[in-house]
Amino acid sequence: MHAMVLNRPGESLAWTELPDPSPGPGEIRVRIAACGVCRTDLHVVDGELTQPKLPIIPGHEIVGRIDALGPEVAGLAIGERVGIPWLGHTCGACAYCAAGRENLCDRPLFTGYTRDGGFASATIADARYAFPLGEAGDDVALAPLLCAGLIGWRSLVIAGEGRRLGLYGFGAAAHIIAQVATWQGRAVFAFTQPGDAATQAFARGLGAAWAGGSDEAPPEPLDAAIIFAPVGALVPRALKAVRKAGRVVCAGIHMSDIPSFPYRLLWEERQLVSVANLTRHDGIDFLRLAPSIGIATRTTRYPLARADEALADLRAGRFDGAAVLMP
Ligand SMILES: [Zn+2]
Ligand SMILES: [Zn+2]
Repeated sequence: MHAMVLNRPGESLAWTELPDPSPGPGEIRVRIAACGVCRTDLHVVDGELTQPKLPIIPGHEIVGRIDALGPEVAGLAIGERVGIPWLGHTCGACAYCAAGRENLCDRPLFTGYTRDGGFASATIADARYAFPLGEAGDDVALAPLLCAGLIGWRSLVIAGEGRRLGLYGFGAAAHIIAQVATWQGRAVFAFTQPGDAATQAFARGLGAAWAGGSDEAPPEPLDAAIIFAPVGALVPRALKAVRKAGRVVCAGIHMSDIPSFPYRLLWEERQLVSVANLTRHDGIDFLRLAPSIGIATRTTRYPLARADEALADLRAGRFDGAAVLMP
């Protein structure tokens, strides 16, 4: 197999030939057809997430087909198409796992961070954390659903039932969740970098009721807002945009520091919460719903060897939607 390997944070990924790995008990080997590029991969490569396994193969939006089954794997077959998300393993025994909150497990493994991921032609996954994808839909179009879609979905559920939903940062996750929220009958208010008319037009094209700069106030108070951009300064702005008892959800795994803000922005029972990881339940719910919503993902394809270019383009905001690597 070949892989793009991160040997040390801050360095370029290195094209590396490796022997094909063999699945152990409870594991599967997957030939990768497509792997999405997520902002979390940038945080890993840049060293903002500080505990990676090194060297590490990044990537946690994996679509591929099973080509080897380890012992004790039940319910999956050779040739079956599966998706492998960020949550790669949980202990099943800690208080959080026992309470059905495996996204907060004390001893988890994360794909592309603490276990090898999908910037490669093959990977090993824990069979219990691979989602069967069926045959509907294109490999590349499905890849961004595995994180941008799933974390976005979890964020949307936690944002509550409110009709007027703000999305701060209109990248891979927001472009999927805007379609889900619109399908649910909500009004989406899309906030981009000030002056980014192209992304604002992209958001309106996906059904947003309003799109503007993150320094603007929405035309009416929001019931809830989700912050996808890793920018702490958006927290007080989003709190200012939501009504009394409105909720602001921080969806990213890493964010720049939140500036101090007056207590009156939180007053009147406004809530500020974060979303961490996903549960397998989130994945099953979302992937079951996704085909009926008819989500159209906007993707930009890169050959695997150009992973660094895909990461640089994501950092610079050079494409709308999501980047996907093709091994
Ligand atoms: Zn656990
Ligand atoms: Zn991700």
